[in-house]
Amino acid sequence: MSKSALAITEEHIDLADAVFGALNRADSRAAARATLEDGSAHPAAIWSAAADLGWTGLAIAEEHGGSGFGLGELAVVLEAQGHELCPGPFLPSVCAAVVIDRCAPDSLRAELLPGLADGSTVGALAVSGNFTIGSDSTVTGESPAVLGAPDAGLLVVAAGDDVAVIDATADGVTVTALDSMDTTRSLGSVALRSVAVPEDRVLRGAARKARTVFRVLAAAEAVGVSWATLEMAVEYAKVREQFGRTIGTFQAVKHHAANMLVNAEVTTAAAWDAARADDLDGAWFAAAVAASHAIRTQIFNSQNNIQLHGGIGFTWEHDAHLYLRRARTLAALMAEAGDPLLDVVEGHRSGQARGASFTLPPEAEQFREQAREAVAKLRSMPADQHRDYLVDSGYLVPHWPKPWGRAAEVLEQLVIEEEFSGVERADMGITGWVTLTIAQAGTDDQRERWVEPVLRGEVMWCQLFSEPGAGSDAAAVRTSAKKVDGGWRVTGQKVWTSLAHMCQWGLATVRTDPDAPKHAGVTMMAIDMNAPGVTVNPLRGLTGHAHFNEVFFDDVFVPDADVVGDVNKGWLVARATLGNERISIGGGSGGATGFAADDLVKLLDSAPQETQAYYVRRAGEVLAETHTLRLLNLRRITRAIAGSEPGPEGNVTKLLLAEAGQRMTELAMELAGSAAVTGQTPTLTQAYLGNRAMTIAGGTSEITRNTIAERILGLPRDPLLK
Ligand SMILES: Cc1cc2nc3c(=O)[nH]c(=O)nc-3n(C[C@H](O)[C@H](O)[C@H](O)COP(=O)(O)OP(=O)(O)OC[C@H]3O[C@@H](n4cnc5c(N)ncnc54)[C@H](O)[C@@H]3O)c2cc1C
Repeated sequence: MSKSALAITEEHIDLADAVFGALNRADSRAAARATLEDGSAHPAAIWSAAADLGWTGLAIAEEHGGSGFGLGELAVVLEAQGHELCPGPFLPSVCAAVVIDRCAPDSLRAELLPGLADGSTVGALAVSGNFTIGSDSTVTGESPAVLGAPDAGLLVVAAGDDVAVIDATADGVTVTALDSMDTTRSLGSVALRSVAVPEDRVLRGAARKARTVFRVLAAAEAVGVSWATLEMAVEYAKVREQFGRTIGTFQAVKHHAANMLVNAEVTTAAAWDAARADDLDGAWFAAAVAASHAIRTQIFNSQNNIQLHGGIGFTWEHDAHLYLRRARTLAALMAEAGDPLLDVVEGHRSGQARGASFTLPPEAEQFREQAREAVAKLRSMPADQHRDYLVDSGYLVPHWPKPWGRAAEVLEQLVIEEEFSGVERADMGITGWVTLTIAQAGTDDQRERWVEPVLRGEVMWCQLFSEPGAGSDAAAVRTSAKKVDGGWRVTGQKVWTSLAHMCQWGLATVRTDPDAPKHAGVTMMAIDMNAPGVTVNPLRGLTGHAHFNEVFFDDVFVPDADVVGDVNKGWLVARATLGNERISIGGGSGGATGFAADDLVKLLDSAPQETQAYYVRRAGEVLAETHTLRLLNLRRITRAIAGSEPGPEGNVTKLLLAEAGQRMTELAMELAGSAAVTGQTPTLTQAYLGNRAMTIAGGTSEITRNTIAERILGLPRDPLLK
């Protein structure tokens, strides 16, 4: 398995493997450690390896000595460099090179790029400071801290909206090396006093693009730091023992690790999306999102890595502090280059809140024509025939098996999503994922009886799993059934059953062998909610609405023909249902959010100036998070199209969706102030209350973190009480 999180395609995986291999051979981490004493922060061996292997010229045009690749490839290299703490000015130099390559006139590109590509010139990019270009074509100003400036022969400096390209040895240039917290690379202040710059070295309007380049590539490096620190923490948690157990069995440790994984995944998705962009203007918003995550995550993961190592993590000899130093320093420079959170909000305000465009392979076209035809036909029909047409054509649930769906693979699903955008297709919520389970695990007779009426909107199903004594521990059900002639007699109680009062059928977990181990004695049964002995009592949720119910079974007869799956093997079917539920919720179905990003921005903009100034950064965090949820799904799809294994995004999206909804409505409540608690914002207030359910229903966030830690990170399971 590749060590790179950013790489999905075969080419990127090969590139990443080559870079990791070369950095290991160059003993990058040891070189980084040596910088704590008297080792160079610009080791010649590492720099010449980067040049010889073509990394310095990777994203420079071929006619100027590079390989003509893009930010995506450079991001893969930078991730590996962050992961392996690679010392030296690679990041600032390639940032400077990309800005010149993308924004400078041909004559300047021809003059400067060959040196940057072959590594004989080191560049640095200054995106913070107060530089200005005077009418006499001179640049004046200062930047307090520029990465790699003491090593650079060429300074690329953002001055207002423009960028100036300056020789470090020119008259009026002073670079002062600073004592950096991160010893693995140089940092210097840059002062320019009336430095003359010829017109072809002023890149008009390029400052925003320069910031975008820095954000994308610095975020990619932060991705590497975030995964390296997570991996170190998890490896240690698997072997360190305390209290007679490995510390990875403790839930506090698991949850730290799960939080680190979620942050790393989010930052990876955002950096991957930003680096896919072909044009730097289009990547501006994606880069702001990536930078806002990267600033936070690299620090969070580096700090938690130290925490999970205990005392040894605090030692000078351990590498953990090298990562923290690197992360903290890069985060400070990224923040000083313009607050990306403010840009995230601005991107929403100005309608630029979109990821980089997603290019589908040519095979997609065969599906597009069919989907377009279907949409055209649908639009020509009266509205009351729409649902039947969607069912008959398989477009209601394209990913379901035939004959109900189209057995659509990822590519066809993506095309359908695009072509059907704006067409109303019913979200069946719980009824949908319960029926999908029947379609997957039921008999032919059951499929025939139950699936189609659901699709046509004639019948609803509920999920009868939770009981007073079986919530998170869903296999601990006590509702039991006795075998009788031709079927079973069911007695017991379910609780929190959503919409049971509106449903004709329910899928229930029932104990059929009280002597078998917990997971082994459960059978799945379809229960007719109108059968004698079934009582449904509505329960009011905290919103005031009776959304869920308690359901009692008193000697209810269930015919053998309504048992779904094998007797005593119902846990397998239950797990499939819970899996379908998670994917549906993580993909946005059954959510309680009821309050969208645009609503938040409107609320922010209608607040008084002072309030806006106070809350705008938090709004940026929430908006970046919500945006990234979509990117996680996009990465899952891209991975599937590239034929790779599914990644951990599914679990991560369930957790994030739930918590992001709560953070969004919490912030909105704060912004709305007393209006939100005095009946003046009914939609928001309901959404705020309703969203409390999201971290409970469909598996609580604590259980999801346990699952992430155990199933994805491989930490040991909780030892069970005997
Ligand atoms: C709005 C809503 C709709 C619902 N709809 C349905 C439905 O249609 N059908 C259905 O079957 N169920 C439904 N549920 C029930 C839901 O699945 C359960 O509430 C959920 O699984 C938690 O179970 P519990 O309520 O018994 O809480 P408990 O399991 O008792 O948990 C209480 C607290 O302890 C924590 N906890 C428990 N075990 C662990 C552990 N091992 N590690 C760490 N923390 C732990 C939990 O995270 C939680 O914070 C719904 C719930 C809600 C709120």
